[in-house]
Amino acid sequence: EASVTKDDSTPDLKDDNGFKGHDMLAPFTAGWQTTDTNPLIIEKSEGSYVYDINGNKYLDSLAGLWCTALGGNEPRLVAAATAQLNTLPFYHSFWNRTTKPSLDLARDLLETFTARKMAKVFFTNSGSEANDTQVKLVWYYNNALGRPSKKKFIARSKSYHGSTLIAASLSGLPALHQKFDLPAPFVLHTDCPHYWRYHLPGETEEEFSTRLAENLENLILKEGPETIAAFIAEPVMGAGGVIPPPATYFDKVQAVVKKYDILFIADEVICAFGRLGTMFGCEKYNIKPDLVSVAKALSSGYLPIGAVIVSPEIADVIYSQSNKLGSFSHGFTYSGHPVACAVAIEALKIYKERNILDHVNSIAPKFQDGLKAFSDSPIIGEIRGTGLILGTEFANNKSPEDPFPAEWGVGAYFGQKCQENGLLVRVAGDNIMMSPPFIFKPEEVDELISIYGKALKATEERVAELKSQ
Ligand code: PMP
Repeated sequence: EASVTKDDSTPDLKDDNGFKGHDMLAPFTAGWQTTDTNPLIIEKSEGSYVYDINGNKYLDSLAGLWCTALGGNEPRLVAAATAQLNTLPFYHSFWNRTTKPSLDLARDLLETFTARKMAKVFFTNSGSEANDTQVKLVWYYNNALGRPSKKKFIARSKSYHGSTLIAASLSGLPALHQKFDLPAPFVLHTDCPHYWRYHLPGETEEEFSTRLAENLENLILKEGPETIAAFIAEPVMGAGGVIPPPATYFDKVQAVVKKYDILFIADEVICAFGRLGTMFGCEKYNIKPDLVSVAKALSSGYLPIGAVIVSPEIADVIYSQSNKLGSFSHGFTYSGHPVACAVAIEALKIYKERNILDHVNSIAPKFQDGLKAFSDSPIIGEIRGTGLILGTEFANNKSPEDPFPAEWGVGAYFGQKCQENGLLVRVAGDNIMMSPPFIFKPEEVDELISIYGKALKATEERVAELKSQ
């Protein structure tokens, strides 16, 4: 993902050993970016803003990486961490030993998740670990039920489920597979539910959803339903370009997976805790999942923590078969880390006390309508989103069939113009993504829209210039 364009004017960063660039092999960063350009080094955060080491201030439209829901300096989260560090900085949760914060957070999460009744929580350190855990849980469950062939997973093209081997396999983004010998063979991918890009001429959203559900059913029948264990989906696709589901999509897909006794896993790593204007994406789209992955806003990004929320039916099998199966031999040193749990407990408390959903729902129309007003731009194909998540896709002639030449770097240019004007956005090719903190203020929406408008104008001029050459 090239979010910075190569700049020949940057200083030579070669070090004494002859290696160029800084010492970190940086995630999701091209080698040339660290050797030929200086990194943006963020030093401090305050509310919805971050500051770099040169004192430049940026409105952080991505809330870190879709995670700092309460902004950059929530003192109650710091106090919760400090208090826990002073009492018990670490103890584990293996072998029926555990800590009070992990037990309390498990209870709080079950209370918070109301889309259906859930029974148990397994803690991880990240969304990727949560999704890897999902696969092991599902396999363990089907082994316990004596159906060892029901092991395949169906995910969707353009989904993002993480970067560990299995989570990257589930993901439907080619960059996560190419050069890594992935996906793993038990993972299948079905259609991306992006209406604008993939609908047939004259097809309504409902008809598009029907066709995708039929394609899913055909895939299941082709593979054999007795081999398909689970279907995994983000309620709104995030890193694949912010893609909200088309009308009736989840109703139709759920009916299909239910028919073939296939588990439904909701990857709520981005959507949970208020981003869509509901506590979970499952509530918004009437999803009744068997398993749920959460991370990110669970701790408002302040400490690494993720979790898997497990249905009563699955928990029942795992518990009732435990004499036969032995222990659930899966877990991480830091599963249920007490300091991360203490911060997450406080974050959930703050979401409730401050009626964060009401705030998100009051600010979301201004954010959505304000930005969607740019949809007429000749270089924008589609602006889409809901709640506090929004994607912009650039396209030539407003057509999904007609992308700009990659070497024009239209998205990267727009991202750079935003940054020069004090706004950080996420760039992936010609997709621009935003997911501001839940505490975003009306005047910050105004500022964001104003910078977006300036960057768009500059990008329109740049495209006109490139076209005339
Ligand atoms: N699932 C989704 C939907 C995500 O957006 C992400 C991270 N962007 C992950 C899983 C992986 O989470 P992590 O980076 O914490 O491993």
